[in-house]
Amino acid sequence: MDATILIVEDEKNINDVLGFTFAKSGYKTLSAYDGPTGLDMCLNEKPDLVLLDVNLPGMDGMDVCKQIRKTSNVPIIMLTAREDEVDKVLGLELGADDYITKPYSARELTARVKALLRRANADNSNSEPKENTGIITSGDVTINVDRYEVKKNGKTLDITLREFELLKFLAEAPDQIFSREVLLENVWGYEYLGDVRTVDVTIRRLREKIEDDPSMPRYIITKRSIGYYFNKI
Ligand code: CA
Repeated sequence: MDATILIVEDEKNINDVLGFTFAKSGYKTLSAYDGPTGLDMCLNEKPDLVLLDVNLPGMDGMDVCKQIRKTSNVPIIMLTAREDEVDKVLGLELGADDYITKPYSARELTARVKALLRRANADNSNSEPKENTGIITSGDVTINVDRYEVKKNGKTLDITLREFELLKFLAEAPDQIFSREVLLENVWGYEYLGDVRTVDVTIRRLREKIEDDPSMPRYIITKRSIGYYFNKI
């Protein structure tokens, strides 16, 4: 199956170059040049991945991302022009899976797209049952590894794929401390060219969802200057 990538970018030459790059790598591409059209195309055409520029006419990329996340978990990579947008882009409420700062190399972007699609595909194929799958319970949190589902007090949480992968990775080895670098390598799954802030931000998002008090976490614990671990309660 050829994956379809939706490119939402108002600068026509950039959009064209991206389209060309991914078409050459064997992907189908769709292009939108403003926020509302991008959102429409995402909801109607159901692409396998969305490249979403932050600064767009009509509706900015952050709002488009939030709207998409109301109904879809499609992998989203935000294209940001400024380093200082990164925290906002990866912010709690947005739900993007990754970001890349302009100017980026086609090779780097392609690597990230491939990694996200591979992950999404692996998650969608229920072909052979994996080992170590099942249900992990700690306190009032239940992680159903096969169904990609996390519940707190019996209520299903709205969780992105990346948050799930990170939680699962930590929870499968409770009490084991992992450095940010190790988490990046194992959860993000490729030679990550960004920085470890990505891990911190994703941890923060997870805590907002699974902890009673995110400032006093009981499940995902910070080991100062080392990393994080999952606390089995
Ligand atoms: Ca733009």
